[in-house]
Amino acid sequence: MVVRYERRGPVAVVTMDRPEYRNAQNSAMTYALDEAFYRAAEDDDVAVVVLAGAGPHFSAGHDIGTPGRDADQSFPRRAGLWWDHVGKGGGESRFARESEVYLGMCRRWRELPKPMIASVQGACVAGGLMLAWVCDLIVASEDAFFADPVVRMGIPGVEYFAHPWVMPPRVAKEFLFTGDRMTAARAYELGWVNQVVPREELEERTFALAGKIAQMPRFGLALTKKAVNQAEDLQGLHAGMDSVFGLHHLAHAHNAETSADPLAGMDPRAMKAASNGS
Ligand code: ZN
Repeated sequence: MVVRYERRGPVAVVTMDRPEYRNAQNSAMTYALDEAFYRAAEDDDVAVVVLAGAGPHFSAGHDIGTPGRDADQSFPRRAGLWWDHVGKGGGESRFARESEVYLGMCRRWRELPKPMIASVQGACVAGGLMLAWVCDLIVASEDAFFADPVVRMGIPGVEYFAHPWVMPPRVAKEFLFTGDRMTAARAYELGWVNQVVPREELEERTFALAGKIAQMPRFGLALTKKAVNQAEDLQGLHAGMDSVFGLHHLAHAHNAETSADPLAGMDPRAMKAASNGS
């Protein structure tokens, strides 16, 4: 099992469980997360959902190189009606796949009509950011750090391009241009992390917040979440993300045309080496 699901009173806890790969997200994990979120949405006794990562890191991002990488496999699709990417070529395959497993899934999870809290420690990088950003609230430990280094691959940020809505545009540019890590303290200062807590208190503080929210009426919470999400969309989040998704795929296609592969030859080792010292 790459995702664990448990209920603690009114709180459903969804835990990514590939700590040996810093919870790198493969498709098996994506669909297991979807199953868990669906279950939490369905269960009338669940008021709040907590998303956590097992081990020292929340998530190192999409799986671009573990033995469990499954980007070439078919899964029953859940986010939309795009056809299977397997057996298709070039941009068609990439666009169909990423529309489903990255952008589509993240948007689907953002719509879960119950409050979701990300409980973040250690690395929250690239695809990991997408998972934290679809949550309504983020509680981070002091050791948590955030980064989107995919510009090193020539790609303008991860598929769920929320950067200039999550943080001020000039900060978003610096975050992307440098690929540097942003500390939890800085993210808190910028208003996109709700609490920064000592590592040993992360779980307790996340559950304290979840328990407090769980006392509110279910429908009231669902409507309030929708209200704020709609406001973000009116500020351009949804349409902006669609337009950037095109640029993202232009970059993948450019890489495929001019270098070894759509990730510009950058595997996890190369990405890690390039980010040393940042
Ligand atoms: Zn991509």
